Amino acid sequence: MKYLNLGDRTELVSLSEAIFKGLANDGSLYMPEVVPALAKDFIEAMPHMSLSEIAFEVLKPYLQSDMDDSALKEMVEQTFSFPIPLRPLEENIAVLELFHGPTQAFKDVGARFLSRLMSYFRPATAQKLVVLTATSGDTGGAVANGFHKVPGIEVVVLYPRGKISPYQQYQIAGPGENIRAIAVEGSFDDCQRMAKQAFNDVALRQQVTISSANSINMGRLLPQMVYYFEGVARMMSLNHGQAPVICVPSGNFGNLTAAVMAFKMGLPVRRFLAATNVNDVVPRFLTSGEYQPKPTIATLANAMDVGDPSNFSRLYALFEKDVAKLKKLLSACPVSDGEIRDTIQSVHQRLNYLLDPHSAIAYTSLKQSLEREESGFFVATAHPRKFVEVIDTVMPEVGKNLREKYGANFVTDKNCITMASEYKLLKDYLLNLT
Ligand SMILES: *Cc1c(COP(=O)(O)O)cnc(C)c1O
Repeated sequence: MKYLNLGDRTELVSLSEAIFKGLANDGSLYMPEVVPALAKDFIEAMPHMSLSEIAFEVLKPYLQSDMDDSALKEMVEQTFSFPIPLRPLEENIAVLELFHGPTQAFKDVGARFLSRLMSYFRPATAQKLVVLTATSGDTGGAVANGFHKVPGIEVVVLYPRGKISPYQQYQIAGPGENIRAIAVEGSFDDCQRMAKQAFNDVALRQQVTISSANSINMGRLLPQMVYYFEGVARMMSLNHGQAPVICVPSGNFGNLTAAVMAFKMGLPVRRFLAATNVNDVVPRFLTSGEYQPKPTIATLANAMDVGDPSNFSRLYALFEKDVAKLKKLLSACPVSDGEIRDTIQSVHQRLNYLLDPHSAIAYTSLKQSLEREESGFFVATAHPRKFVEVIDTVMPEVGKNLREKYGANFVTDKNCITMASEYKLLKDYLLNLT
């Protein structure tokens, strides 16, 4: 399998080039050159297969030209080492919980798989490979955890000092060893600027091999398809094989792109719903046919605060850039902070189920959109304990119980250093790493 540059479809690269470069030279994204169809037999057998058996079959066509079955099997088993349960909530609604990984958010699967791919394809040079990431909170934790102790890779995470939650800092600065946490005295934009300068510094890159682990990386996208095969496999036993409606809470639209790729591979899905917060560029696009990005608005579901989603070009390409085709399969609806709070409270009261703000958006959209004869599931992308500050404002008692159950005091500055927001300091640091 080769990967094509969406900006110039004549440029084909190997998977390893796509994952180490992240973006093509012209700034466009990579995509598999074809989305292969899986055998009907496999779809029918899924309910009787385990998560890692399903994952192996789904990922194999994308990787078999680059590695043998035993290497892929090992990677799959290391990545999918925790359950992804489907829980029935109401008569026609279930939730697929993607938050049972080590950092309690769905990004764990992508980060874990990417780290193993990079370790496998690592060029055999004397230079160490440095993965450099700027984070506003959530991604840094998944990357730190996913790459922890992976041989031959040093990870440098830049985060704005004092501007992420204590729990997020614990996840980034806690692991130590090959994970270097740098608390930058500045904003997230400062962190991102410093990282960008490093990527553009030709002299530096001659001495240090640097890669990125951000969310547009093909290596993070591929394993996310597995969620949807797993969800539909378990749903088939619940609803007698009827194709479900699937609702995905979306920010950068990577997770939904993976879901649509799964559909193109032959997964039975009735239709998709993209649930967003008030950063509603995609819902507006589906109404007007015009893609008009806007500055980001801060919301309670902050991992979805994206004004110009970078995976949109991939999603659009899957529909041959045809809005009518896209609208046949996908609808979208924005959900406000007020509705997030109301849903967290009412679902807890009515169904005794606690939603985090991102998953609350997905539930709200699915509940509003589901027709009588349909059934479906939404994906829960984070554990509510990660957003206990929001739960506190809605139901203080429940928030208090969450803190008691999971603890609130973490040693968070064990393995981090502080740095002024000057590129030269970062450059010196990177040069002295190897
Ligand atoms: C990143 C994230 C999302 C958004 O996922 P995309 O693939 O960027 O659309 C949703 N919920 C949580 C909790 C996240 O961390």
